[in-house]
Amino acid sequence: MKPREIFLAALRRQAVPCAAAGSATSVITTDLMDHAGVWFPEAHLDAGKMAALAETAVTVLGFDNIMPLFSVWHESAALGCEVDWGDRNRMPTGKPCCSSLDAELVIPRDFLLRPSCTVPLKAIRELKRRHGDEFAVLGKAFGPWTLGYHVFGVEPFLMATLLEPDAVRRALRKLIEVTVAFAHAQVEAGADALTLADHCTRDLCSPTAYRDFLLELHHELHERISCPIVLHICGNTADRLIYLRETGLECFHFDSKVPAVQARTLAGQKLSLMGGTSNFTVVRNGTTAGIAQDVQEKLAAGIDIIGPECAVPLDAPWMNLQILAEEAKLQSAARFASCV
Ligand SMILES: [Zn+2]
Repeated sequence: MKPREIFLAALRRQAVPCAAAGSATSVITTDLMDHAGVWFPEAHLDAGKMAALAETAVTVLGFDNIMPLFSVWHESAALGCEVDWGDRNRMPTGKPCCSSLDAELVIPRDFLLRPSCTVPLKAIRELKRRHGDEFAVLGKAFGPWTLGYHVFGVEPFLMATLLEPDAVRRALRKLIEVTVAFAHAQVEAGADALTLADHCTRDLCSPTAYRDFLLELHHELHERISCPIVLHICGNTADRLIYLRETGLECFHFDSKVPAVQARTLAGQKLSLMGGTSNFTVVRNGTTAGIAQDVQEKLAAGIDIIGPECAVPLDAPWMNLQILAEEAKLQSAARFASCV
């Protein structure tokens, strides 16, 4: 099986000859930018540079998938948020574009034609052309909850969930159309699967808020988007994994705050799991032996796609990601062979 087939089969928990290695979020580090000769912020803003940096995930690191949307701001910039695209040592940051939740959120009709959307769409097309037979190309769109943080600001949005829940529901209904439109455009450009990042983590959203505001919307996204979806939520998600498995979404990209064994128990046997490897103790600061040990624990717990828990810190060494991918392949091939 080619890496693309392994990655896409692992996303659905189908039989594979070895574990997949990959990530739903950015794997770019500053030393990987130096290695590729392409840096932020240009790699967020120029399709050729974005594709050139993104492909290092497979040409240098040895992962099975490429995911070229390194930042969280592409569609929000197209909606009108002011974005500082950062630099080689700093991820982009943005500012809200709406001052209140009262009916003033207007989705620009042409948002998909704005540069912050056309650049990743063009990069996906190029990556599909260059690597599409061999490796999986993953797109990324943000869910309505994260878009709510971006366009209204985190604090006003969260306050509104308590004070004006109906206004929040109306806003989420508008924002879900942004997620669907950007997702469809990426699938049309050649994405094999999609990261759906929606930051309804425990610090910011209670499990009942997840159930009441988002469960149905995530289920709807699964129904309306025609490719497999990897849901990404940072932080501790143990108290909402029982809801996530009801959405029908194929895979969950989880944070190391949920131990892998617990994640597998809560996810059940149907939901595929990706990540869970700590970006701090393992990816940034781990030794080769520590990385190998982490991979062993993930495989033993039944994690389907080995990789970092979230966007890799820019100051991590890329060599550790390469070791992680190598260990995933070596250990799982031996483990799976001994199971037959
Ligand atoms: Zn994250």
